[in-house]
Amino acid sequence: MKIRFWGTRGSIPTPGPSTVRYGGNTACVEVRDSTGALLVLDAGTGLRELGIAMMNGGSGRAFDVDLLLSHLHWDHIQGIPFFRPAYDPKSRLRIIGPKQSRTLKDLLGMGMDDPFFPVAIDDLPVRLSIEEMTDGSDQRVGPFRVHSSTIFHPAPALAYRVEADGRSLVYATDTEDAFSGRPNPVIPLSADANTLIHDAQFLPSDFKATWGHSTVDSAIDVAVKARVGRLVLYHHDPYRSDDALDRIGRDAQRAANERRPGLEVVVAREGLELEI
Ligand SMILES: [Zn+2]
Ligand SMILES: [Zn+2]
Repeated sequence: MKIRFWGTRGSIPTPGPSTVRYGGNTACVEVRDSTGALLVLDAGTGLRELGIAMMNGGSGRAFDVDLLLSHLHWDHIQGIPFFRPAYDPKSRLRIIGPKQSRTLKDLLGMGMDDPFFPVAIDDLPVRLSIEEMTDGSDQRVGPFRVHSSTIFHPAPALAYRVEADGRSLVYATDTEDAFSGRPNPVIPLSADANTLIHDAQFLPSDFKATWGHSTVDSAIDVAVKARVGRLVLYHHDPYRSDDALDRIGRDAQRAANERRPGLEVVVAREGLELEI
């Protein structure tokens, strides 16, 4: 598998001179298997730029897009109305997200209803399907095998383990499980994974309980306990500057070296591509 980060920021887009290197777009990761099949993780504002790149490289061909949503907070869905392939009637878009108290389609549609947006979700030209996933699911999504776990967050949310080509990637954003007082479901979900993309919004010094996020230290702890090969720090706090993230990356690698030599720590930045 290959992945590319299109949005790494948490909570709200943060354009500006202090965030140009790690990026200001919110959560979105492109995943490709060896055949080029596409799976998108979250639909924050980074999804807009993924869509532009697809259209520019596609020269009129139809796209087949599977999109997994971790949950419905704005920073994970705001790119959907601006995803250009969604305006292509030849293309197919399948959105899968955690089961809510109302249907996922109703809830995603609310954000696009008048007067919030001029195009209703049912009027998107793409061949759209919307499906719900529950805790402990294990299913095929295109060529990818996807396992899910409910995570501790102020809204219904799932972490996903994605497997293809004999490799494994875990996407665990917006998780406060390390502080929930209960067994952390991200650890078994991530067992021996090649790469773990993990929420690292806070440092211990600015941690805010009940906001639904992890600290860098707790992300390292999960990675060590799950014996993953690589940890990607993700969902950066909107107040975190590029310079602060440079420091966080260095400190995190040093801390990881002490706990589990060989554990690679990477700070997610827009445009970063990784081979899984
Ligand atoms: Zn978020
Ligand atoms: Zn959230």
